[in-house]
Amino acid sequence: MFPAPVLERVRGVVAGDLVVELRGWRLELVGPRRGFMPTVSEVSSPCPSKRDVYLRRVRGLKPASDGVLLAGRVFHEAFLEPFRVVLRAGPSLERLAGAKARLLRGAPRELRSAASRVFDASSALAMAWGVGGARLPVAVEPEVPGGPVGLSDVVRPDLLVAGVPVDFVYGNGLERKELAVAAYAMAVEAASNNPVNYGVVVQYAGGRLLWRAVILDDRVRSRFLEARDAVARIVESGEDPGVAESCPDWCPWRGVCHAALRV
Ligand code: SF4
Repeated sequence: MFPAPVLERVRGVVAGDLVVELRGWRLELVGPRRGFMPTVSEVSSPCPSKRDVYLRRVRGLKPASDGVLLAGRVFHEAFLEPFRVVLRAGPSLERLAGAKARLLRGAPRELRSAASRVFDASSALAMAWGVGGARLPVAVEPEVPGGPVGLSDVVRPDLLVAGVPVDFVYGNGLERKELAVAAYAMAVEAASNNPVNYGVVVQYAGGRLLWRAVILDDRVRSRFLEARDAVARIVESGEDPGVAESCPDWCPWRGVCHAALRV
């Protein structure tokens, strides 16, 4: 199923060693505490102060859509498209090659080589999962109700693999993606009443895909709930949380936040 290091790390929790209070079905503990229910992207955004959510939701601004956002979208599609192809048409190398050519044609020239590598790595996995009689239950961006755990009406993990949420990230962002997989897992728990003990983050960094298992203990679930409520508080109060102390160089809002500081 997942690469060996991921399976090695989760073996204990799969066997039932994890004691968790904050399950998605414990609505009295994890249900909405505020009227505004953020998206998973807002809860797990890279901005330390969540000013990005304030700028978008309260001020109605839009970030620059080129640069890192465009690259993220291209790599995200390069990761997901092979799974869609294999689910739709079976493990066909010809169809994968056609899908890859289409994807690369629509991508900016400078991103094509890296997008090609992401697509190839993802294709190998999609083929392995889709070949033979052992086809795994995989869904690409399935819709899961988010309201029961205080999130937007619908949340969509990149993949659900036998009930395990898998989320892709381009570049750094492992820590914030832990919150995203916790959010997805708790939404799945609320919808299914089945425990989800781990999620997986797939990171494209240094020219390759890295797979990380995230054990969903109460610590990471609490962090998600705190971040969810902090974002909701910002939107409901309409108060500017201020520019973060350390902003990523690539933040698409730098032109707004740091230009304002220079005036
Ligand atoms: S520039 Fe800094 S404060 Fe503004 S949204 Fe980006 S990370 Fe947040």
